Amino acid sequence: MSEPLLIDLSKRGRKAYCYPPLDLPRGFDQALPDLPEHLTRQKPARLPEVAELDVVRHFTRLSNLVHGVDNGMYPLGSCTMKYNPKLGEHIAAMEQFTHIHPLQDISTVQGCLSVMYNLLEDLSSITGMSWGSLQPCAGAHGEYTGLKMISAYFLEKGETQRRRVLIPVSAHGTNPASAAVVGFDVVEVKSNKDGLVDIEDLAPKLDETVAALMLTNPNTLGLFEKEILTISEMVHDVGGLLYYDGANLNAIMGMATPGDMGFDVLHLNLHKTFSTPHGGGGPGSGPVMVNDRLRPFLPKPDIELTDSGYVYRWDGEQSIGKVSMFWGNFLVALRAYVYILRMGSEGIKAASQHAVLNANYLAAKIGERIAIPYGKRAMHEFVASAKALRHENGTTAQDLAKTLIDEGYHPPTVYFPLLVEEALMFEPTESESVESLDRFVEAFFRVLDLAERDPEYLKEAPHHTPVGRLDEVRAVKEPELRY
Ligand SMILES: *Cc1c(COP(=O)(O)O)cnc(C)c1O
Repeated sequence: MSEPLLIDLSKRGRKAYCYPPLDLPRGFDQALPDLPEHLTRQKPARLPEVAELDVVRHFTRLSNLVHGVDNGMYPLGSCTMKYNPKLGEHIAAMEQFTHIHPLQDISTVQGCLSVMYNLLEDLSSITGMSWGSLQPCAGAHGEYTGLKMISAYFLEKGETQRRRVLIPVSAHGTNPASAAVVGFDVVEVKSNKDGLVDIEDLAPKLDETVAALMLTNPNTLGLFEKEILTISEMVHDVGGLLYYDGANLNAIMGMATPGDMGFDVLHLNLHKTFSTPHGGGGPGSGPVMVNDRLRPFLPKPDIELTDSGYVYRWDGEQSIGKVSMFWGNFLVALRAYVYILRMGSEGIKAASQHAVLNANYLAAKIGERIAIPYGKRAMHEFVASAKALRHENGTTAQDLAKTLIDEGYHPPTVYFPLLVEEALMFEPTESESVESLDRFVEAFFRVLDLAERDPEYLKEAPHHTPVGRLDEVRAVKEPELRY
């Protein structure tokens, strides 16, 4: 059963409020300017008229229809849908953090500035970089900011011929998109048979027209780029820079740093690796972190700790300027800071180790029945392929994913990375226990059994949700947004 809209529940005159009688003098509002005639409403707006209980029940029922980490496993690869401790939510809801304004006198927001400053210090040590900025509001926004800094760096050096950015085929789609938005020409780098950067393809593409190589490590196949030190030396030898897509940091936190791998600039997804419920386009935070070479180009203002407390620094001559309103999504940064403080350096490291262990456990189990083309030894995620099943009886990755919904699971990522046909990308994260992983494997195997017995049934899945299989292309091309 789908939930009716509030307007369908509406009854004339029913209300969820009751105001005390007006005790202001009549005509008190006449000081307001008259609105132009053509902008004033001719008849009352058609708004739902419902009682408070109607509203509460409506939204409670809707929330029960939504799948989230709090009500089931969410193994959406490349998204790191981990459990977000309630402590972070509690602190991010405290008035001391929510009832402030970014333009308020700096002496009254020293606590918030200390959160931002200390978080940047922690992120610097976790990534092995020298400093950063919390302004970017998403991973893609961090990529944009980092590439802008690379562009500014080469402009300053007079190397304006560096217009190419090299990106492996396995990269997240935001990488080439961000490079193109900043005005670079995107050049694709092939993968070798092991799913890693093909060094023989990379070498001839490196010359003085290269601004940067953008790399995700471990890459989106969940594989660690073992030749990273050779790769970074090759790029630096021709004067280029290395950009690290840090959305996958969950695999290596506390174990290895992009700084040690030779990267010059990176972004992190605080809303993936460092807590904050995400999905559905909620608020995010994609800080950029840099080494000394790019530090002067960071967005302004910077935060500095002086003898008289924290201050903003607006004086960076080479800074690329501001990239968002005020100081970014502060409450997301705050949750990340709470997460890091509560976990401590040992906890952060353990989270990565468990994430990798869980992914490998799941890969070993699932690999008994479905191909994992690029090896079963993964980092934090792995990619299976439904290619054989499709050839056998037409069952696609999409069909398997949709049927998993009926089993009460959020599906894995499908059809990404493009390198794997009929891709299903699983990322269990550190949150799940071994029992929960086992239950997921059983559910996935039930879906595979069904696929062998009754492939037609899967074509129509999901069967037990308020709406069945959607035409996803039509939903994008002809969205019905009006009641
Ligand atoms: C999620 C992700 C991004 C983009 O992050 P957004 O916050 O969605 O913009 C970039 N790269 C990788 C590898 C990702 O997983």
